Amino acid sequence: TEACLSEIEGAARLNAFVHVTPELALDQARAADARIAAGDAPAMCGMPLGIKDLFCTRGVPSQAASHILNGFRPEYESTVTQKLWDAGAVMLGKLNMDEFAMGSSNETSTYGNAVNPWKVDDRDLTPGGSSGGSAAAVAADLCLAATGTDTGGSIRQPAAFTGIVGIKPTYGRVSRWGIVAFASSLDQAGPMTRTVRDAAIMLGAMAGHDPKDSTSADIPVPDFEAMLTGDIRGKTIGIPREYRMDGMPAEIEALWTRGAEMLRDAGAKIVDISLPHTKYALPAYYVIAPAEASSNLARYDGVRYGHRARLAEGDGIVQMYEKTRAEGFGKEVQRRVMIGTYVLSAGFYDAYYNRARKVRALIKRDFDEVFAQGVDAILTPATPSAAFGLGEMQDADPVEMYLNDVFTVTVNLAGLPGIAVPAGLDAQGLPLGLQLIGRPWEEGDLLNTAQVLE
Ligand code: GLN
Repeated sequence: TEACLSEIEGAARLNAFVHVTPELALDQARAADARIAAGDAPAMCGMPLGIKDLFCTRGVPSQAASHILNGFRPEYESTVTQKLWDAGAVMLGKLNMDEFAMGSSNETSTYGNAVNPWKVDDRDLTPGGSSGGSAAAVAADLCLAATGTDTGGSIRQPAAFTGIVGIKPTYGRVSRWGIVAFASSLDQAGPMTRTVRDAAIMLGAMAGHDPKDSTSADIPVPDFEAMLTGDIRGKTIGIPREYRMDGMPAEIEALWTRGAEMLRDAGAKIVDISLPHTKYALPAYYVIAPAEASSNLARYDGVRYGHRARLAEGDGIVQMYEKTRAEGFGKEVQRRVMIGTYVLSAGFYDAYYNRARKVRALIKRDFDEVFAQGVDAILTPATPSAAFGLGEMQDADPVEMYLNDVFTVTVNLAGLPGIAVPAGLDAQGLPLGLQLIGRPWEEGDLLNTAQVLE
């Protein structure tokens, strides 16, 4: 813990930690030492972690990197973080992210962007987003692991951009209670770690039924670490032809082929599969996610928590709401709230939101069908490119940024587990990741297969 605290101090340039909690960390570390001395050391005992800023942590700023939550210190602890502390883990502090987890580059944060520890020449790169601070912190060894959340790729894309492991569990595997909501039917928390084994251990500590989250599943959590046998003989791995996008960089193609070969060499059977509705996933996601966000973000009104605008003489409650939300939310968040409100409005509900829900059902059915045919996991690239430069997308059409999520959003729409594993370097020496998508509730199998790619 002390070593991590000093690493964090030395790495201020990365802007990964937005709030450090040294006293709390050292108290927790001493308690962990005592448990170890007493021979009662649970799985995560003494492990110093970073926590994404949208997990509510009691008495510690939890702002989802938004100005509108300025000064908010929750009175309660999220289920996930409480489980981690119960398992002996240590909190080093809170990690940077895109505002309300909306973004793919960590550039929408009220704290400014986080920086990828990997570089090309002297150019600073994005660590990805929205869990950019988590990815940068783990990749730069500022903590042993971090929590992330993934609504449309926010664990897997930053993991791929920084050469670490990130798993989004099956929807309902991990409690969402006490996590600032973005799109409730898509959001899942998961671990971001250096190795697949670490991910297995940490997911075991985070997962489990929680009566406080009605969407959390009452399904036993197996010992994921014990499932890492390295044996994948007889498994069937699907390669979905619709993920072979036009203009896919040759390096990504080569990485994908190499990944399939590694799995084949380990005894798996590789088959071509079709997921025909893939091309509608991105548009469906960018209707559903903003729709749910516009509803979830209605609670930030200047009354209950965080920032409240200064009012002029004669301003009433409506002006208070309007000014507070105009000042408190950044541009991307405002864009999503407007899109979400529009697609849910009476005149457009059927044309957009309802249509997107139907597309979502078809995307899920595509996956159900290939799993029913005996496919155990699906291999795809994690991202369409390696990490891009900071500021590079600033003036681009926002859709350019959304295209980054092309391989990851399908998994959230279908509620499936997905893992990103570092699988090689591109010609510039930057990390590239592969993604494995698994059957619902079979994270153990998925982690075991992912370990072969590591
Ligand atoms: N990049 C996606 C978005 O901006 C995904 C975000 C996420 O998974 N939280 O919505």
